[in-house]
Amino acid sequence: VRPTVAPTTTPSATSFDARTAPLFDAHIHYSEDAWRVLSPQEAIAQLRKAGITQALVSSSNDDGTQQLYEAAPDLIIPELRPYRSRNETASWLTDETVIPYLEERLKKYKYVAIGEFHANGADADLPVVRRVVQLAKQHQLWLHAHTDVDGVQRLLRQDPTARILWAHSGFANPAQVRDILRRYPNVYADLAFRNDIASNGALQAGWRELLIELPDRFMLGTDTYTPDRWGIVVSQANWARQWLATLPPTVAERIANKNGEEIFKREFAKGR
Ligand SMILES: [Zn+2]
Repeated sequence: VRPTVAPTTTPSATSFDARTAPLFDAHIHYSEDAWRVLSPQEAIAQLRKAGITQALVSSSNDDGTQQLYEAAPDLIIPELRPYRSRNETASWLTDETVIPYLEERLKKYKYVAIGEFHANGADADLPVVRRVVQLAKQHQLWLHAHTDVDGVQRLLRQDPTARILWAHSGFANPAQVRDILRRYPNVYADLAFRNDIASNGALQAGWRELLIELPDRFMLGTDTYTPDRWGIVVSQANWARQWLATLPPTVAERIANKNGEEIFKREFAKGR
């Protein structure tokens, strides 16, 4: 009989395996139409099935986020969305009632960010958006901004110390994203809804270069902005695992979970 030998491998950054690694998803919504078809427990089960162990969640309205957080406080990191229903993605820009809604929620619950909100170009300088930037500063919260190259710079002119998670990396190309991230150290970018960056498991060359150059600045995201997107949480995670596996392990690990954990998980634990 051969004695069984215990494995002696020690975990290190280089042992990172994208195929099985826990994922940090920085772009999850659980909005009212989703919670009507998917219970908090079912939504949590979907995330766990995908191997997502931490998720930054915002919902229209915020009750969705609070339900998920209650169901799995170990998994959910709440952020506060300025929308009370899904049809406010444009109207909120000029709706002053958004501010008391945010103030009331901020008094009641703990968050790491305000967002995700939509404000492109000059809209980012509208009074309601300015108030949101101030609220984030006052409460030491991140801004999760769905905005373009112009808009992200307008937000930073209002508050040069603002910390921004740039949703969808602004749907910008690698050169534009590189320029923003190099210029503004407080800007991080999520890769939600960016299925254009890889195909058949291979990253597009420009994106590959950028992720290797600035591995500390990117996070994954699924963007469950409609109820049916909850059905693709697992396949999206697997899609990301494929291209993550082609990157140097230390780079892949940063994007898969380390960046999100070091920023949002730590921040939420601190503020709680
Ligand atoms: Zn979104």
